Amino acid sequence: MDEALLYQALEFGRPYAERGKVASYIPELSKADWRDLGISVHTIDGQQLHCGQCDRRFTIQSISKVINLAIALEHFGFDAVFHKAKMEPSGAAFNAMSRISDTEDIPFNPLVNSGAIAVVDLLLPLGLEGMLAAARSLCSDNSITLDEVVFQSEWSHSARNHSLAYLLQSKGVITGDVEELLKLYTQLCSLSVNADNLASLGLLLANGGVHPATGRRFLQEEVVRTVVTIMLTCGMYDGSGEFAVRVGLPSKSGVGGGILSVVPGEMGIGVYGPSLDEKGNSIAGQQILKYISRTEKLHIIDRCIR
Ligand code: GLN
Repeated sequence: MDEALLYQALEFGRPYAERGKVASYIPELSKADWRDLGISVHTIDGQQLHCGQCDRRFTIQSISKVINLAIALEHFGFDAVFHKAKMEPSGAAFNAMSRISDTEDIPFNPLVNSGAIAVVDLLLPLGLEGMLAAARSLCSDNSITLDEVVFQSEWSHSARNHSLAYLLQSKGVITGDVEELLKLYTQLCSLSVNADNLASLGLLLANGGVHPATGRRFLQEEVVRTVVTIMLTCGMYDGSGEFAVRVGLPSKSGVGGGILSVVPGEMGIGVYGPSLDEKGNSIAGQQILKYISRTEKLHIIDRCIR
């Protein structure tokens, strides 16, 4: 892998950006430039490759659900987390309400809004300070901060997530203060990151929770196994099945335009492209990842074919 390949991948993805739209249900996100594209790759053997706008900051949005899930598993364990949400793909939109309102059940998984909100119920004692410290350490960047403007914009347009949270409270899934936990959930979605930060996080997951350069363990192996598996099955919402077939890399998208991808045992990838498809996944970002996966034979099932 080299930067020439990343350049080719970016150029392959670029025309797709025109076919999507930047998110507008959070008004501040509509200010992003739909043409922006960046990719960053961090490999286990220490290479750091970049192309395009890898330093451009954007809000992490739903990719925070990966950090939240990992930290909840580390601090509270498997049973506590999967008492809040199942581990099944929902086949529904990221903010769907129907799949939990029909039943007495808990949310489908921790990577859709309902499940992530339920997981944040566990994280309340850590607060913004504790979770910001976790995000900084997992992404190897102490300069990650809260984007207050995006936070305020989402907070004042969060009727949907409020409905989900109060529905979960009515079912007894959430027991903490709803407003307080929704505020924390929204703040965690508003952390300002870049493609490089996502590649660092991906690298840590690709290497079983240990930073390859320092040997320091950040996450337990069992936590990594669980998080990365749920990324593969649920990380791209109702596009997860098709993405698994076409790209075959455990990934998590956010409506800010980021995608975090893990190449198990090899590398972490961070992509930025704020133009989204109808499911809320970066439209060019997915194509860029498809190009890299195909060209370098990184699809996890390619191991069966080799
Ligand atoms: N903060 C966004 C929300 O709760 C995250 C959604 C996403 O990135 N898909 O709606």
